[in-house]
Amino acid sequence: MDEPQLAAQWARIRGRLQSEVGDVEYRTWLRQMTLAGFDGDEVIVHLPTRFLRDWVRGHYGDRLNALWQQENRSIRRVALRVGGATAVNGLAESLAPDEQRSEPARPRPEGLESPFTFDTFVVGKPNEFAYACARRVAAQPASQGFNPLFLYGGVGLGKTHLMHAIAWELSPTATTTRPNMRPVSVAYMSAEKFMYRFIAAIRSQSTMEFKEQLRSVDVLMIDDLQFLIGKDNTQEEFFHTFNALVDAGKQIVVSADKSPSDLQLLDDRLRTRLGCGMVADLHATTYELRISILESKARLAGVAVPPKVMEFLAHKITANVRELEGALNRLVAHANLFGRPVTLDAAQEVLHDVLRAYDRKVTIEEIQKRVAEHYNIRLTDMSSPRRARAVARPRQIAMYLAKQLTSRSLPEIGRKFGNRDHTTVMHACAKVGELMERDAAFAEDVELLKRMLET
Ligand code: ADP
Ligand code: MG
Repeated sequence: MDEPQLAAQWARIRGRLQSEVGDVEYRTWLRQMTLAGFDGDEVIVHLPTRFLRDWVRGHYGDRLNALWQQENRSIRRVALRVGGATAVNGLAESLAPDEQRSEPARPRPEGLESPFTFDTFVVGKPNEFAYACARRVAAQPASQGFNPLFLYGGVGLGKTHLMHAIAWELSPTATTTRPNMRPVSVAYMSAEKFMYRFIAAIRSQSTMEFKEQLRSVDVLMIDDLQFLIGKDNTQEEFFHTFNALVDAGKQIVVSADKSPSDLQLLDDRLRTRLGCGMVADLHATTYELRISILESKARLAGVAVPPKVMEFLAHKITANVRELEGALNRLVAHANLFGRPVTLDAAQEVLHDVLRAYDRKVTIEEIQKRVAEHYNIRLTDMSSPRRARAVARPRQIAMYLAKQLTSRSLPEIGRKFGNRDHTTVMHACAKVGELMERDAAFAEDVELLKRMLET
């Protein structure tokens, strides 16, 4: 892949986006994107502030991925990062004062793109244990009883934030303030990246190098381990690396969406080893924690948000911190854009789509019906034992949507699909996710169904 070719593709993608979203939206959110390069199967796009980056990721991330995949088949996804030109528009600047201040002073540790630090992590009952463990590991890596550190919890509850915070704490800039701490090398990777790198190393016959690289670090962090599941030789490789590192007195930090014992398809030996250090879970947020988080984020953004509005948000937006943060960001952006104060009315108006999603709960039956209609199959095929692709794929999509849109557990979903096993549902979710990544048209289809069900 060469740079001019990428640049031309990028220009086409921008043009398409502009015509899709319209000039105003484009100028407000997208114009400041710059193409920063590529890394393996990822293109890297910079935005000047964390706020803009999050916004673009939340609202246009999927579209950007799809457009890139259409343009260039070797691109699997777009990594949106903070960097590049500084913002000219005052909106973005006023929303990220913290970031702008810290940017020049703090070189980011390799692989880290966010300023997720311990300072910005709000501690409350649901996460205080995980927080304390993370702090401890950052202060004394590889200490007895804390290795490996296994952090788990639902999506958007702060796992990645805590891992990044540990990495920050151990980064060269941070450790200079603690003279008796020797420099520590940290590798942070998502399980997907780990897999990707490992497979790429096999292809280029450089697995030895890859292993040595991994084994030379002091702290290895693997985020979202659930995505490693079921990939036999990468699990095997991770297991060996894991053992080698622990035996050499290095620290491992792993995150996942479930506890080691609930990660179903995990290799038994790996499961045992993962569970033998410290296992800490991040619980769902409480109302009190949501209020504290809103207060903290509003303060960091330097905006006045009335208590009434915070209470409203904390009552309504309960799924996770990511959604809560997203809602606040939207509200603040809206207020800035139109030069109006943040009010309860504005909150209800600006967030009507998010709020409606909370008001309306989709049922598995509705999902089955819609998906069956969409793919022109009989509703009974959702629970029939037929395995022909023409019915099996839509059934998998319906299972995937049931997992995404309802709060039903995997076994509950399985039961509604003709008493299938929860591992079948899990496999369906993984399969659909994988197809969506590979096939932009398929992804669009599923997204469309999802949007129809949500509204
Ligand atoms: P996970 O990795 O568990 O899916 P993240 O760590 O990515 O979740 O968190 C999602 C978003 O919510 C991030 O922007 C993060 O900074 C924020 N967040 C989560 N928990 C907290 C917290 N306790 N205090 C402040 N921000 C939080
Ligand atoms: Mg995460």
